[in-house]
Amino acid sequence: MFEYQHIDSEGKSIDLPVGKIVCVGRNYLQHINELNNAVPSMPLLFIKPTTALCELTQSVVIPKNLGPCHNELEIAVLIKKPLSKATTQEITAAIWGVGLGLDLTLRDVQTALKNQGHPWERAKAFDSSCPMSQFVNINEVEKLTALDFSLHVNNELRQLGNSQDMLFSILELVANISNTFTLLPGDIVMTGTPKGVAPLSVGDELEIELKGHFSIETDVI
Ligand code: ZN
Repeated sequence: MFEYQHIDSEGKSIDLPVGKIVCVGRNYLQHINELNNAVPSMPLLFIKPTTALCELTQSVVIPKNLGPCHNELEIAVLIKKPLSKATTQEITAAIWGVGLGLDLTLRDVQTALKNQGHPWERAKAFDSSCPMSQFVNINEVEKLTALDFSLHVNNELRQLGNSQDMLFSILELVANISNTFTLLPGDIVMTGTPKGVAPLSVGDELEIELKGHFSIETDVI
């Protein structure tokens, strides 16, 4: 059953609907290099449906018998006002806050789809493919361009990111996205993963931190 709601730092539900998730691929140079992809001249976009959302504080469920399911930890931006062909000034006023989400990816499925020139949804948009943290209100965020985040798997550092290393900044991404998709209150923008993507295994213990704001412990089942 689908029960996800956006929640705030205190665990209270945020008064916004649950909308689409617009995801950005290839936004950190070192991650582009680890998968031998080309550097994009404009953001690479894809969408996950609302049914991809689930709470990160609950166990992360990985699909079985479909090959490796990779972690991609990303800064998630929660939108509170409609944005269409928006300017950066409009965008700052339209962000509710930021959190962290996992863009779970069936890597072999994605590679096969890529090789056929097909869309990626079967690899990235399945149910519960987007476990999501609480959101920190924008008023509590000092700088969108200096957000540190990390993923530890079984106490070993796997991903370490900082928003200053993005090829396209959060504001540039949202501006660019709003030229193609109108963003509505309750939509989420996933801003791309830093390097360190690798398979998750049943039984893995995860620790996910947005530095200065929160740390979440969860596991993989
Ligand atoms: Zn991703």
